[in-house]
Amino acid sequence: MLQVAKDFLSSLLLLEMLKGMGVTMKYMFKPKITVLYPMEKTPQSPRFRGLHALRRYPNGEERCIACKLCEAVCPAVAITIESDQRADGTRRTTRYDIDLTKCIFCGFCEESCPVDSIVETHVHEYLGEKRGDLYFTKEMLLAVGDRYEPEIAANRQADADYR
Ligand code: SF4
Ligand code: SF4
Repeated sequence: MLQVAKDFLSSLLLLEMLKGMGVTMKYMFKPKITVLYPMEKTPQSPRFRGLHALRRYPNGEERCIACKLCEAVCPAVAITIESDQRADGTRRTTRYDIDLTKCIFCGFCEESCPVDSIVETHVHEYLGEKRGDLYFTKEMLLAVGDRYEPEIAANRQADADYR
């Protein structure tokens, strides 16, 4: 009964609204923390999981050895790999596709890779206007890796103690 009376008085005197206005007033004169994206950006962790990339060794050789661990571990079944043996006896992918419309950016592919080939970069500003635009082929993934290799290597180095 007492609670009912309290609730009634609270509604009548608009106490909840006044409490809300109090919070507004409290922050009105404090420094603003709004980030003016995209002119301003918040710091990113070296572990940020953005656009995927396939990496190469410094001599230009692809890192990927087509072990297919990433394909097996991917919970979204977003990775498709086909492979073949080269003339020198090494195994390499003939197809490596990631459907980013399926990907949930869990990072399992990156974690499972024994040669640090497939990675997720810090790049998150990309888009597709139709479904096919977010279907990344091996050539596209290698191109991302080639373009951002210095940042990828620096981020992995920064996180090396925890890997
Ligand atoms: S980040 Fe996760 S969901 Fe996306 S491709 Fe890698 S394993 Fe699959
Ligand atoms: S990217 Fe890594 S885990 Fe995936 S097939 Fe290539 S070597 Fe194996």
